[in-house]
Amino acid sequence: MSSSSYGRPLTLTLWYAALFVAASIVLVLITYALTAASLATRDQQIINASLGEYASVYARGGLSELAATVRAEQRTAPERLFVRVVSRGAEAIVLSDSEGWDTTHLETASARLADGTLVQVGKSTDARQDILARLRATLGLITVSIVVLALTGGWLATQSALQPVRRLTDTVRRVIATGKTDERVQVGPSDDALHELSRLFNTMLDKIEGLVTSMRGALDNVAHDLRTPLTRLRGTAELALAGTADPDRYRDALADCVEESDRVLLMLNTLMDISEAESGAMPLSREMVAVDGLLERNGTLYGDVADAKHLRFVVHKAPGLSVTGDRVRLEQVIANLIDNAIKYTPSGGAVDVSAHRDNDAVSILVSDTGIGIPPEDLPHIWERLYRGDTSRSERGLGLGLSLVRAIVEAHGGTVTARSHAGQGTTFEVRL
Ligand code: ADP
Repeated sequence: MSSSSYGRPLTLTLWYAALFVAASIVLVLITYALTAASLATRDQQIINASLGEYASVYARGGLSELAATVRAEQRTAPERLFVRVVSRGAEAIVLSDSEGWDTTHLETASARLADGTLVQVGKSTDARQDILARLRATLGLITVSIVVLALTGGWLATQSALQPVRRLTDTVRRVIATGKTDERVQVGPSDDALHELSRLFNTMLDKIEGLVTSMRGALDNVAHDLRTPLTRLRGTAELALAGTADPDRYRDALADCVEESDRVLLMLNTLMDISEAESGAMPLSREMVAVDGLLERNGTLYGDVADAKHLRFVVHKAPGLSVTGDRVRLEQVIANLIDNAIKYTPSGGAVDVSAHRDNDAVSILVSDTGIGIPPEDLPHIWERLYRGDTSRSERGLGLGLSLVRAIVEAHGGTVTARSHAGQGTTFEVRL
């Protein structure tokens, strides 16, 4: 990964580093200027003080006295001064020890006395230059260290801040390139915003993976379940064609074909209904629906089927209860549940349908005393085309409950199942 892909944070860091370095350089320059100025002032003060002293010694005791003072002081004073006296019309007389002055840079001050004599005091700037040179070296070293520190610190900070982004980008790139949803971003324990984003991204991948897997499973199931009726359809047609040309046989074969096609069509239509309801694309004409009416119509519809199977079939009254929803779709929900209850309850059993108010919801219960659903099947009964092992002998597509759940959820409700294998099942729809 080239760093240019992360130009912005890097530029930002460089800016901060530059600002930091600039501020440090300003500080260093100020320090240097102040030190230099104060050293110069100190030298000036020394020169002026000595000059005042020598002038008064000269005025008091003349040249010989001054020479003695200068000699005495030059033995004890820490800093060597250059002293010269220029009398009117005479050669300049140097009173300090004379060697070494011609090679150094002098800072001087002079005073003219009443008799016209000029007293000059000079001080070498060598010591000062020496201190300043050392100061310059030290400050230079400090500045270089600051630059290095700012750049490496900034670079390291950028790197560590960019690491989660880099991991995220790499993972996204791999997911896009390979289409594989089993890639995950490595996330550290920190819970800053970037790690949180990475974690959310992983959760999203989990969801997508789950969806893709279930879609793939559903597609496999559909393909598998379509094969059976289509194979039968083809077999019937082939058999009819192979035999003698008999209109009655043809008619029977065609009737079989129509029946098989109907099965396929029903399956495809139901699958599309489920998809529509799940994606929210199912048109629902919402109205106030009396629950009593909903149950009663299904009661009459299934009464005869239940009688024929010798089942005790009771639909309880639910006066005054109503829900908002699509009447036809809700009837379909109740019909599917009653149909299953009758289908999976052996002769002599009972099917019971009732409704009651539960807080702000209406709860509709369809219970039976049938074969029940084994606990391991229970989580799967809502999947498309899923059929329990015990129900293979019954007709069915394995789509009824998928449609029930899709419709109920499209209405903003929930549907749950409780079952004891061998004792019966209760489905509850809450709207
Ligand atoms: P099917 O067409 O097989 O009835 P459904 O989607 O309606 O498909 O139901 C899925 C599976 O749930 C059934 O195959 C059956 O195993 C189980 N099931 C549904 N309702 C009941 C019930 N009332 N009693 C026992 N098992 C049931």
